Amino acid sequence: MVGVIGNPVKHSLSPAILNAAFREAEMDWVYTAFETPEEKLSDAIRGVSAMGIAGLSVTMPHKAKICSLLDEISESAQTLGAVNCIVNDAGKLKGHNTDGDGFLDAVNHDAGVNVTDKKVLVIGAGGSARSIIHSLGKAGAGEVAVINRTKGKALDAVKLAGPVGKYIEESEISEVVSESDLVINATPIGMSGIGNTTNFPIEPNLLSKGQLVVDLIYHPISTPWLEALKNRGVEAHGGLSMLIFQAARAFKLWTGKEAPVEVMRKAALYEIEKKHNKETFN
Ligand code: NAP
Repeated sequence: MVGVIGNPVKHSLSPAILNAAFREAEMDWVYTAFETPEEKLSDAIRGVSAMGIAGLSVTMPHKAKICSLLDEISESAQTLGAVNCIVNDAGKLKGHNTDGDGFLDAVNHDAGVNVTDKKVLVIGAGGSARSIIHSLGKAGAGEVAVINRTKGKALDAVKLAGPVGKYIEESEISEVVSESDLVINATPIGMSGIGNTTNFPIEPNLLSKGQLVVDLIYHPISTPWLEALKNRGVEAHGGLSMLIFQAARAFKLWTGKEAPVEVMRKAALYEIEKKHNKETFN
């Protein structure tokens, strides 16, 4: 038994993705959603040890608070102050963060790109941006520039990249964008159900062919921003692969086996399509 702990988690795609993986791997495992309010978090974690639950994915709002409830934390999760995956190792609960490295796996899978020596611009400085910035720094990116609506958070996030981190102001954006090999949107601008989906994180005409863009949003599968970029010949990918590859890393941590990523992607696409049809016809 494994599952995801968060609040709310009813709409999480993780049960569909991970159960498809266990079926494909012919493993007698099950993954479920544990909707847990903050005040019950420590009881829930004690329950994980007590009942021998093999592991948990952790989502909002528990990623930070859960750190102090675990027996051990990986170096990356410690640096980020956020755990998104727990492994129950014979009663000892160890916290990891698979988001940033899952993102790097996704870029490698979708675009065949290794970020070593690349110039990268990250838009946003929230939880997902922070884990990506940290992984980019570890992976040897040449420069990790960060821009964010709230300056203080960007200044804090930039440090996670180490010496290649660089804070940038709004006035510097066009120059930095034009020099970037990879641009990442780690904000919800363009997401279904959030504000105006035709708002753009940055103007598409600042980018051109030869550059790579990843938008972490996976619902919708492709945003109007990504479509506008593709029309300009820019290679642009959505966030579905990151979702799959961070889950694939959790699967490996729990089971020791490689995850069947294509089956997981199919399961996620089916659920997103179902959500989309519900929104369209309601
Ligand atoms: P978060 O921690 O809440 O951070 C949100 C970030 O977006 C912050 O930097 C925030 O700026 C910025 N932001 C929010 N609304 C904005 C607006 N209207 N204009 C400009 N900036 C805005 O969220 P998160 O967990 O990092 O998630 C960010 C996005 O990534 C979401 O779309 C989420 O669905 C997606 N995501 C995808 C995956 C995946 O696996 N593909 C995983 C995690 C998240 P401030 O600092 O100023 O508030």
